[in-house]
Amino acid sequence: MTNTTEQSSNPASNAATNVDPNEIKKFEDLASRWWDPESEFRPLHAINPLRTEFINLHSPVKGLKLLDVGCGGGLISEAMSAFGANVTGIDMGEAPLSVAKLHLLESGESVEYLKITAEELAEQRPERYDVVTCLEMLEHVPNPSLVVDACAKMVKPGGDVYFSTINRNAKAWLFAIVGAEYILNLLPRGTHEYEKLIKPSELSDYARAAGLELQSMIGLHYNPFTKGYKLAPGVDVNYMIHCKKTA
Ligand code: SAH
Repeated sequence: MTNTTEQSSNPASNAATNVDPNEIKKFEDLASRWWDPESEFRPLHAINPLRTEFINLHSPVKGLKLLDVGCGGGLISEAMSAFGANVTGIDMGEAPLSVAKLHLLESGESVEYLKITAEELAEQRPERYDVVTCLEMLEHVPNPSLVVDACAKMVKPGGDVYFSTINRNAKAWLFAIVGAEYILNLLPRGTHEYEKLIKPSELSDYARAAGLELQSMIGLHYNPFTKGYKLAPGVDVNYMIHCKKTA
C-alpha cells in the first residue's frame, strides 16, 4: 500500500484526499433506488437484519449515541435508530444522503445526516459516540487505515466499533466479484475492485494501530440456491469485525 505511513502521521490534513470521486459517483448514480429491496441494493437489504442485530446483540444501543460512517441511503442508520439509538449518519455522497433524509419522512425515524468525512468529523467530535459502525465502506476508500483511525478517535473509551468489508484472496475474487457481479448479477459490474479489498489481518492491524482491541470476527455467507445470507465462522469472503476502544 502506498503512502500509508506518510498519511497516517496526520490523518486530518489528508481527509479531503481520502475520498475517491469515482467511488462516490457509483453510489450517486444508483441512489434513487436505495430503498427498493429488489434493486442493486438487494444484497444490502438482505444482510441488514443480520448485521444490525449482531451489533445490537453485542452493544445494546437503546439510548446510546451511534455514528454510522459511510451511511449511504441509511439502511443501518435507520435500523439502529429503530433499536433506540441516537444516530448520526455521515457520507460523502450527496444523492444517498438526500435519499436517506427523505426516507425518514416515511419511516418516522430520526437521524442526523451530515455530508462530511470521518477524518473531518473526528476533529470536531472526538470521543463523542458509544458505538461507531462503518459497514461495506472501507473497500471504497483510498486509504482505509485513516478511516479506521478516525472511527477510533470518535468512539468513547470502552466504546464499540464495527467494520465490515470483503477479504482479498482468490475465493473472494471468485464469489464477491465474478459471482456477484458477472454471474448472479447481484451487484452492478465494477462495484468492487479487487485491489481495494481488505484482508482481515490488514483490518486488524489498522484497528490495533488505532487503539482498538479486536473482540470478534464473523463471516457473512451467501447461499445462491436459497438466495439467503447467514452469519457464520469463516471470513474468506464477506466479514465483519467487532472492536472495543481500550478504556
Ligand atoms: N454503509 C452502508 C452503505 C454502503 S455503500 C450500508 O452498508 O448499507 C458505501 C457508501 O460509502 C456509499 O454511500 C458511498 O457514498 C460511501 N463512501 C465512499 N467513500 C466515502 C468516503 N471517503 N467518505 C464517506 N463516505 C464514503
